[in-house]
Amino acid sequence: MAEGAGKPRILKGRHLLGVAELSIDEITALLDLAEEYASLARRRDRKLNTLRGHTHINLFFEPSTRTQSSFELAGKRLGADVMNMSVKTSSVTKGETLLDTAQTLNAMRPDLLVIRHQHSGAAELLAQKMSCAVINAGDGWHEHPTQALLDALTIRRHRGKLENVTVTICGDIRHSRVARSNILLLTRMGARVRIVGPGPLLPPNAERLGVEVYHRMEPALEGADVVMMLRLQKERMDGAYIPSEREYYRFWGLNEERLKLAKENAIVMHPGPMNRGLEIDSSIADGPRSVIREQVEMGVAVRMAVLDALARNLETEAAA
Ligand code: ASP
Repeated sequence: MAEGAGKPRILKGRHLLGVAELSIDEITALLDLAEEYASLARRRDRKLNTLRGHTHINLFFEPSTRTQSSFELAGKRLGADVMNMSVKTSSVTKGETLLDTAQTLNAMRPDLLVIRHQHSGAAELLAQKMSCAVINAGDGWHEHPTQALLDALTIRRHRGKLENVTVTICGDIRHSRVARSNILLLTRMGARVRIVGPGPLLPPNAERLGVEVYHRMEPALEGADVVMMLRLQKERMDGAYIPSEREYYRFWGLNEERLKLAKENAIVMHPGPMNRGLEIDSSIADGPRSVIREQVEMGVAVRMAVLDALARNLETEAAA
């Protein structure tokens, strides 16, 4: 993490579009760097010059609390000039296309662009058109790589490793880019991943993802090291996927009784925002086994690591 030139290259690619493109070594190196940033963040003097002179733009077409603010903080802690594009007040509302917006932003010569968009593939499209490094902060149902990285870091801090850790991902897997990126990352790192949820909310051909598929919460939770709850993504449900919220809670909600089936020291995660009383009881979300707030803390550290890693590549390119 020392400042200046000659820092080791962490990521092979110019962009971070998804976990699918990351190797075990790249994931490990990013998590190691994020761990250093996590310790730094707990100190008082935590402002660095690593990204001084770099322009970092956040372009969010979908609402975000945690991701946008943590990218902003990450960029600022590394000394970048950070600009948040407010889509609501931009020409996007006048019908400007994604590519026109991208070209306008490109003319401002940013170094790092963080994008969240409702369409799968939006980040990849921008990466083809922009001259800066692009980071996917969530594209439709597709991927949310920094969420999976921060989840992995949180698990590693509690279990010391990812290999052979049993992670049960519960709920609306089908619409969740968080689940998709987590499945890719955790299986690649040798974790045992179980998924469980109502049939219509499971992805088609789920077994092909290298996970164990369950149709009832109880066996899926049995002996789990990590219980990862997902939000019921009501905004992505165009048809009736669940009979009623009450039914959903009855069969799929995480309550104290069900949590007892997991290992005694199992941790409970949720990417947020939570539907309390629907997929998770408040007593668990705020209880001793919840690491939900730590996930948010690790979000800043992981995003610092990603920004730093991509900026290193830009510097190497510029020097070549
Ligand atoms: N915040 C996460 C995402 O953007 C999870 C969610 O919205 O449920 O995908």
